[in-house]
Amino acid sequence: SLTIGIVGLPNVGKSTLFNALTRNNVLAENYPFATIEPNTGIVPLPDARLPKLAELVHSNKIVPATVTFVDIAGIVKGASEGEGLGNQFLANIREADAICEVVRAFEDDDIVHVNGHVDPSDDIETINTELVLADMQTIENALPKLEKDLRGGKIEQSYLDAVKHAQQILGEGETIDHAAAAGKIDKADIYDLHLMTAKPFIYVFNLDDDELQNTDMQAKLAASVAPAQAIFLNAQFEADLTELDEADAREMLTDAGLKESGLDQLARVGFDVLGLQTFLTAGEKEVRAWQIHQGWTAPQAAGVIHSDFEKGFIKADIVSYDDFVAAEGSMSAIKEEGKLRQEGRDYVMQPGDIVEFKFNV
Ligand code: GDP
Repeated sequence: SLTIGIVGLPNVGKSTLFNALTRNNVLAENYPFATIEPNTGIVPLPDARLPKLAELVHSNKIVPATVTFVDIAGIVKGASEGEGLGNQFLANIREADAICEVVRAFEDDDIVHVNGHVDPSDDIETINTELVLADMQTIENALPKLEKDLRGGKIEQSYLDAVKHAQQILGEGETIDHAAAAGKIDKADIYDLHLMTAKPFIYVFNLDDDELQNTDMQAKLAASVAPAQAIFLNAQFEADLTELDEADAREMLTDAGLKESGLDQLARVGFDVLGLQTFLTAGEKEVRAWQIHQGWTAPQAAGVIHSDFEKGFIKADIVSYDDFVAAEGSMSAIKEEGKLRQEGRDYVMQPGDIVEFKFNV
């Protein structure tokens, strides 16, 4: 499954955040197939539709989609030079599908900052510079073979040009993700290089309570990383929230003037930047959100439930969540109003689809 690697300088609140995430781990009983490694947190994708559906179809089992986070310890200046820990650090980042950068924005004189002062933009630059340098190294190592492949007719000139263009962008200190978002380069053109800075980035700014109310400061920080997504949370507060039962946690959130926990925001944004989406199934046995890639067709989605469903796919009976709720879950009412769609092999799954697949065995 796709993973999001959590990185950041020391003492920024990574462990605090990661521990909160793992305490939020989904119930292992629903995911017997998932071996949960100590540095991995599998958290539920928050989805308010699921309890509503469960109520309508009289189910007492809900299985949410999940988002997987991996704690990647040990960014150090000079990581790209491949010293000890640095090497391992980069290897771990290469395996992740997206990068979640935790950045300290809280002031606390008791907690030492590695650079001696709290400066979020400076910290981001420190980390991103290491990743950019490592990507430049990757390209430099790849070029001799690419030149040879071009002479041998194994690759097109346009591919080599795209690689050199990426090299130039990195040479200016810009990440490929950032350049791609600005329309300067198409990630697909250089996909084969598996560059680290071509992964989607999410920035998590760790703030104290009073700074959580400071919208000016947050707007500035968000602008400094845009168009990448920025999330603002207090890691310690998030950790405390996970200690409480649902009702108490909701009260604590409301008291803090927050609509949603930072962990829930992070799960939602993470799921989205990974290019994932869900479709729903709703039966008495269970109500479930299944994860697929954005743009997948009905047979591909069926294959997530069972490979036989994909092979023997006939059609998908689909009703949208809103129509299902409007009809209070009555299939006869849904059919009468013509809200039950029959979709074929080429149908591209849409968010909110509640599905029943028909298949040959
Ligand atoms: P890591 O080195 O990035 O994993 O950082 P830790 O999670 O170990 O946090 C470093 C220190 O900062 C610990 O003493 C935490 O209790 C503290 N800390 C983490 N988050 C916050 C926060 O939001 N506010 C304050 N004041 N302290 C925090």
